[in-house]
Amino acid sequence: MSDYIRSILTEKQEQTLVEAITAAELLTSGELRIHLEKSTGRKGAQVRAKSLFGALKMHKTAEKNGVLFYLAVEDKKLAIWAGEGINAKVPIDFWKEIVDLIISEFKQGHFSEGLIAGVEKAGNALGEFFPRQEDDVDELSNEISKG
Ligand code: CA
Ligand code: CA
Repeated sequence: MSDYIRSILTEKQEQTLVEAITAAELLTSGELRIHLEKSTGRKGAQVRAKSLFGALKMHKTAEKNGVLFYLAVEDKKLAIWAGEGINAKVPIDFWKEIVDLIISEFKQGHFSEGLIAGVEKAGNALGEFFPRQEDDVDELSNEISKG
């Protein structure tokens, strides 16, 4: 376990976050994932999130509705990257409210709360466009992904 992650999330908070993802996925067929890494390197957060989305095979869901919450912990940079199935359906400012909500918590030092609030809001919002089906499959692990 990398220390930089424990600087913002305790083990218990990490577990709570996984549970929040699991709960959000009860509302939608969208697949949510959080990826943490130390730094974006030389890239911007959006570019890095897009590339991780592919590297983590998140484009391979049936409805193309994966969502990656990307956080570069030391750079304090956040980006959300969503699959093309989502972008084809949701309004253009769909993610802005969610990003703003997370950042407002981050600014108070509330990292796990911010991520949980974002995951909950995304689950609720995506449920409108991609309701969960009875035969839902957990296509992507709910565990926090770490760089
Ligand atoms: Ca699913
Ligand atoms: Ca999942």
